[in-house]
Amino acid sequence: MNALRGKAVINALANRSIDYGNLVRTFSKISRRKIHVLRRPQDIRKVRHTLRDDKRTVGFVPTMGALHEGHLALARAAAAENDEVFISIFVNPTQFGVSEDLGSYPRTFDSDMVKLVELNDSLIATKNMGRITTVFAPTTKDIYPSGRPSSEINGDGSFITITPLSRLLEGRTRPVFFRGVATVCMKLFNVVQPDRVYFGQKDVQQTVVVKQLVTDFHLDTTVRVLPTEREPDNLAMSSRNVFLGARRRAAATVVPQSLRIAEQEYLMHDRLKRDEILDPAQVFLHESRKQASTEHGVDWELDYLSLAQLDTMNELDHVDPQKGAILSIALKMLPMLDVREDEETADITRSVRLIDNIILPPRPG
Ligand code: AMP
Repeated sequence: MNALRGKAVINALANRSIDYGNLVRTFSKISRRKIHVLRRPQDIRKVRHTLRDDKRTVGFVPTMGALHEGHLALARAAAAENDEVFISIFVNPTQFGVSEDLGSYPRTFDSDMVKLVELNDSLIATKNMGRITTVFAPTTKDIYPSGRPSSEINGDGSFITITPLSRLLEGRTRPVFFRGVATVCMKLFNVVQPDRVYFGQKDVQQTVVVKQLVTDFHLDTTVRVLPTEREPDNLAMSSRNVFLGARRRAAATVVPQSLRIAEQEYLMHDRLKRDEILDPAQVFLHESRKQASTEHGVDWELDYLSLAQLDTMNELDHVDPQKGAILSIALKMLPMLDVREDEETADITRSVRLIDNIILPPRPG
């Protein structure tokens, strides 16, 4: 694949629409179905108009690429209830703050396409309703025709802001993040005009922002939220996990473990008060941090451990058992200075922020 990489991407972008599936078939002989790669919004529009005339439904999965099973699960869900699945691959610059990792965010277009073609073949084999037919891979100029807006909090640009939601939790550490997300979603939804859009529970605050975007701006689409896909040891899948390296990757299981500990307090011990739910998880994190530091030289900073109301993300002192709540965590794995041989590909000298959450369901009775 590598030899073809530059040429394939250039063709895909320059010709606006290529049969990428055909290209992949040349190598792996796995593809039986066309996936069109379109760059320009007007080309997506044209396809969309035809589909509407033919009364074909479109499910849309927005991504930043570096696809993993979490993304593919969204595409599978979209294929289960739509005729056609559109996937966007666009690393959106405006959701990155000025000092964040935009430049080094993983970009793996070729292998993303291979995964989508393989998934499409499995959809065909299982006689699933829909197919992945279109990848929307715009450039920054295509999405931001008047020029890329500022990543400064007070910078200029055409923005969608959803507050106070966007200032809470993730927004406290990443003040321009949800402005960038809401803005790009508005643009992508306007271009694709999907019947349904698919988002992962993994980024729970993002799902709340997107639902509010759709409600407040009367967008004619339905938001679906799918469960978090996890590695066998329960770490939530994420495109950024590749940067962890072996020792931080092993230590990262404290993220889902701490959530489970808090969840148990609610589910098994009937606790409803904030401190009673969160304290055991805090103690676990504290103890684990000491151990990870002395035994493996791994250290982290806890950004937040939150117990919040699901529809507003406002912090709770007490869970209403009729409503349930959302437990969420953000933890920054700090850079490591001594690079081991088995960690050379991971760039462990940079920090990696991990997020995760679980829903505390309503407790009947
Ligand atoms: P991203 O490419 O990180 O912007 O993610 C694109 C979509 O995939 C978002 O809706 C994410 O919430 C979703 N997603 C990312 N990781 C996971 C996961 N582990 N499980 C389910 N969905 C995920």
